[in-house]
Amino acid sequence: MGNITFTMIKPCAVRNGHIGAILDHVSKAGFRIKAVKMMRMSKKEAEAFYAVHKERPFYGELTEFMSSGPIVAAVLEKDNAVLAYRETIGATNPANAAEGTVRKLYAESIQANAVHGSDSDENAAIEAAFFFSQKDIFSKEGEICV
Ligand code: ATP
Ligand code: MG
Repeated sequence: MGNITFTMIKPCAVRNGHIGAILDHVSKAGFRIKAVKMMRMSKKEAEAFYAVHKERPFYGELTEFMSSGPIVAAVLEKDNAVLAYRETIGATNPANAAEGTVRKLYAESIQANAVHGSDSDENAAIEAAFFFSQKDIFSKEGEICV
């Protein structure tokens, strides 16, 4: 398993002032932030990002929502990152999310569910590359810390 995953703090959680709390939660869960940025996706960018869901009935609504305000995109590192992160964020529908998970704490609904998390190593790499160039993703070796 790979050690990288990709996440977004969705427009609902940004709007509700949860950026700091979510990044803190994620850091305390043992993920290292390798890249982070705040930006607003255009409708076209949201459609491209969620192209795998094109045939799903909620695609239009989802891409409308994801382009409705700024998001925070981040690349996270931890052993077995994809699975570990999906455990940290909880079930897609916050009604089914376990206690103490990000979605249980910060999600509003199945659509406005606070965060995105990659579903495979392959998609984590594709999604990270959608938002970041290689030089924006910091390795331990590249860091200066005194
Ligand atoms: P994400 O990919 O955002 O981490 P996920 O992998 O838990 O979430 P997916 O099945 O990939 O869930 O769905 C992508 C996103 O589409 C969900 O996070 C949610 O915002 C939205 N979504 C999923 N199911 C529904 C639904 N039934 N109605 C409305 N929106 C939905
Ligand atoms: Mg998904």
